[in-house]
Amino acid sequence: MLNLILFGPPGSGKGTQAARLVEQYNLEHISTGDLLREQKSKGTPLGLEAKKYMDAGQLVPDEVVIGMISNKLDERLAHVKGFIFDGFPRTVAQAAALDQLLTKKGTAISIMLALQVSDAELVKRLLLRGQTSGRADDTSEETIRTRIQVYNDQTAVVAEHYSDRACQVKGEGDIPDITAALSAEIDPLTEDNTEEE
Ligand code: ADP
Repeated sequence: MLNLILFGPPGSGKGTQAARLVEQYNLEHISTGDLLREQKSKGTPLGLEAKKYMDAGQLVPDEVVIGMISNKLDERLAHVKGFIFDGFPRTVAQAAALDQLLTKKGTAISIMLALQVSDAELVKRLLLRGQTSGRADDTSEETIRTRIQVYNDQTAVVAEHYSDRACQVKGEGDIPDITAALSAEIDPLTEDNTEEE
């Protein structure tokens, strides 16, 4: 399997790039943000629990997110060539849980791709997205700054957990150029390329 983690702060373009990579490599996109928003809009107990944290820009508790991912892997693993994880893992505990779940299924994370974007650009992008996304957490600059802070405090360290498989990619510039830079890191891992060696 080819299992990618698309990593980076809120607004770094993980969702945008994941959508493009899913097409290119025929992988399954798992976005915990999207899954949580789905639960929220359906008004499920999990969604109601998650809402409090999401609207405040805080992380949803690990056990809630890990349980959701575990179900998703059970449901999809047999049917896909690999996964693109977007917005997960966001804490070291989530990373450890993900590794354990994948090991149990006989697979692992192939690579972590970390998008680099300046804080000023992140705030600008998220405020712009807030004008059309309808996302409560994108409309207030204070909540946006909280999310960036939470990323720096709790999520950035996850890159160290995968330091043997992590690569940094510049996340500013034209969207297709960024996709090309990500592909340049992924291509050497795909079976077609390794067979030539
Ligand atoms: P962004 O990366 O732009 O902040 P996401 O859609 O990935 O947006 O996440 C939105 C919110 O959903 C987060 O601020 C957080 O409250 C919650 N969330 C998403 N993924 C996780 C996760 N892995 N662990 C905890 N909370 C999460």
